Amino acid sequence: VDSLTAQLIDVHELASKLYHHILVNTAAGERALDYLTKRGLSKDIIDQFSIGYAPPQRLMYQFLHDKNMDDDLLRQTGLFLEWQDGHLYDRFVDRVMFPIKNGSGKVIAFSGRLLSTENTDQPKYLNSPETKIFNKRKVLFNFDIARKAARRDGKLVLFEGFMDVIAAYRADVTNGIASMGTSLTEEQISTIERVTSSIDVCYDGDSAGQNATNRAISVISEQAPKLEIEIVSMPAGIDPDEYLQKYGAEKFKDWLSSARQTPVSFGLKYLRHDLNLDNEADQINYLNDAIKLIATVSSEMEQDIYVNQLVAEFNLDKTAITGQLRELTRQRV
Ligand code: ATP
Ligand code: MN
Ligand code: MN
Ligand code: MN
Repeated sequence: VDSLTAQLIDVHELASKLYHHILVNTAAGERALDYLTKRGLSKDIIDQFSIGYAPPQRLMYQFLHDKNMDDDLLRQTGLFLEWQDGHLYDRFVDRVMFPIKNGSGKVIAFSGRLLSTENTDQPKYLNSPETKIFNKRKVLFNFDIARKAARRDGKLVLFEGFMDVIAAYRADVTNGIASMGTSLTEEQISTIERVTSSIDVCYDGDSAGQNATNRAISVISEQAPKLEIEIVSMPAGIDPDEYLQKYGAEKFKDWLSSARQTPVSFGLKYLRHDLNLDNEADQINYLNDAIKLIATVSSEMEQDIYVNQLVAEFNLDKTAITGQLRELTRQRV
């Protein structure tokens, strides 16, 4: 590790301590602490994830300046904005601060959440910009903890948001990770592949979550065909954090272990989400796409399960479907 990298990490570790201190020990942090408590976060969880608060009074610049950190270094942390005359001032204001850690558990960036999204045009989550130590395409939230848990559990669980990873942790599911508000990247898939051969995808139960699931399945199977994928679908309209809040930790764990689907089974549902199957043209399109999807499965037994489902649902002649399927499978080989 070169010395600039080490210094940038030092600044982030210090900044994280100040944000955390403000949240848990000061009057300035009371509103934010109240917000997190209402969302079900205990003192232990707030400590475990080193969650903090950036108050409206911009305190960070003065704090680090007083610790003899010079402007050249601070400018490169991404924690500050710059006036035209070169003066630096805090980027994060009135936000709950989630430290983003690298694989060794060192703080390399932050994501700050607004306490309220009403009457504002500010983004709900604001991430640090890209810096020498923070490349958002490479980082996975909670990876430092989850990689260890994956050794025991044999897999990772991919969520959409930080609060979902934290919700899972509250239910003793510590192998959860999330990307930085972006869709899953090649770099992140490589990182995942290095520590496990199996991943559960558990995104939000809304259309954005379903689109993201579909995309995750295709990029993973393209780039890492050996990585085993299972899909955990949330009930319509809620995310994992809301599920935990509503039904508690035991039900949350039951759901994670029972509401599982193969990628193809998810794909067959996804294919029909914007179709009207009472309409014959839609029905024919669906069946053609469904058969193409089933043809991507290598196990003949698994193929047979899906074919039987189609035959039963649409009252079809099985030999017609298997004929078309064999044709597609042959083309692939
Ligand atoms: P919360 O429960 O705090 O409302 P969430 O995780 O449910 O957050 P979603 O709207 O489901 O939020 O978005 C999922 C993830 O996408 C977030 O955790 C965050 O990383 C990212 N994200 C959401 N909104 C924004 C935004 N406006 N700008 C940047 N990133 C965002
Ligand atoms: Mn969402
Ligand atoms: Mn969500
Ligand atoms: Mn949420």
